[in-house]
Amino acid sequence: RPDPAALTLADLPLRADLRGTEPYGAPQLPVAVALNTNENPYPPSPRLAEALGRNVADVAAGLNRYPDRDATRLRADLARYLGHGLDTASVWAANGSNEVLQQLLQAFGGPGRRALGFEPSYSMYPVISRVTATEWVGAERGPDFGLTPEAAAAAVERHRPDIVFLTSPNNPTGTALPLEVIAAVAETAPGMVVVDEAYAEFRREDTPSALSLLADHPRLVVTRTMSKAFALAGARVGYLAAHPAVVDALQLVRLPYHLSSVTQVVAGTALEFGDELLGQVKQLREERDALVAWLRGQGYTVADSDANFVLFGDFPDRSAAWRGLLEHGVLVREVGPPGKLRVTVGTPEEMSAFRTALLQVRAEHR
Ligand code: PMP
Repeated sequence: RPDPAALTLADLPLRADLRGTEPYGAPQLPVAVALNTNENPYPPSPRLAEALGRNVADVAAGLNRYPDRDATRLRADLARYLGHGLDTASVWAANGSNEVLQQLLQAFGGPGRRALGFEPSYSMYPVISRVTATEWVGAERGPDFGLTPEAAAAAVERHRPDIVFLTSPNNPTGTALPLEVIAAVAETAPGMVVVDEAYAEFRREDTPSALSLLADHPRLVVTRTMSKAFALAGARVGYLAAHPAVVDALQLVRLPYHLSSVTQVVAGTALEFGDELLGQVKQLREERDALVAWLRGQGYTVADSDANFVLFGDFPDRSAAWRGLLEHGVLVREVGPPGKLRVTVGTPEEMSAFRTALLQVRAEHR
């Protein structure tokens, strides 16, 4: 018998398709300036923190009971926030939009089914596809990470996916999709079309949300998160808007009581502070635009950004640049096409530290 103390993952009867894979996640390093996971740099204000504490205390007194399994009140609040005539029945919530994406793949993907996305894009799509035994197909984007209605529809025709992921604004490029692209895909796709709008609130004025297309496309889904604009990454709240029949489908795969009472009340409280939180989003958008202009002024190639991060380059050795920034206390993300780095928009102080560090790294590598 093998020594139990020496047992490793390789000794376990793991699913064959998970063998050799690695857990996904950006490094969580203790640095002064963490600009690597597209978080909102502003913690809850004292007023919001106080309200959160009070409301969580109320819920704490009833934690012997399971939560509202349907998260009815939170879904109503989210529907009101989204507008577009949406109601409780057309909104669904889960632990981060990652869980929403997983539930979508559980319900509409699975063995023998295929998901399609346009790369470079959010790296969790292939991971969640694999975990749900869904085949993943990555199609290419055009110049400047753009997509035309014709190219997007042609990829859908070619691959006939059960689920298409359109990410707008896209991670890691920051680029948003015109509504015509989303409409073209929705008209061509044989299955579900998921528009991941995790960064929706950071869009520039002239890039509309796919929410306006929902009424005409019953197989269209728009996913959102409270992790970014609502500065609530630690609470894990994501949600979607879709036809109520789509919400019915997700009820078949969700775990009972998946969203804790604490999570539900925390999310509802943050929504009550929407004006305050969205005011900070406006500041972040301005900081983002200034960052793009500064990087371009320094001679970097920068993708247009409608998000709270910026993809820039080109570095002959991006790993060396990444390490150089880290040595100056600034953590960014080594992600996207070769030669690029992604930096999240932080506070003015953090962006100033980033700019100083980048110039120092550049001088050191001359
Ligand atoms: N979609 C995209 C495009 C993202 O970038 C992220 C987070 N990085 C998510 C979904 C998931 O976010 P969360 O689970 O925190 O809602």
